Amino acid sequence: MEERFSLGAFLIKFGTPDKCLKTIFDLRFPKGAFCESCKMVTKFYRVEGRPLYACSCGWQISPLAGTILEKTTTPLQYWFYAVFIMSTTRSGVSAKQLQRMLGVTYKTAWSVKYNLILCNITAKL
Ligand SMILES: [Zn+2]
Repeated sequence: MEERFSLGAFLIKFGTPDKCLKTIFDLRFPKGAFCESCKMVTKFYRVEGRPLYACSCGWQISPLAGTILEKTTTPLQYWFYAVFIMSTTRSGVSAKQLQRMLGVTYKTAWSVKYNLILCNITAKL
């Protein structure tokens, strides 16, 4: 029997912006990232207080660059929570419901929902 991912498990794994950022970094760069300065794939370290990772030489990268999250002002954990809600509800969720659940404006909820839907469609093409 497939075990369902509970809200509690979700919050432990993705409840803070830092945990979400690390998840994105690890998914995008599972074997380390390419350092433009060192000209090789190497280990990067989190830059304290900023959504960036840095090579030991000082070269910095953003795990969000080139993604739909690159210029978002919506907290990362809200995006992750929207994915959680959208993937765990059988009949889907409206932008209005998402607005209430995230405590954001309707415009933000709509934007999050439709950007995630577009990503899902794009990923399947
Ligand atoms: Zn480097």
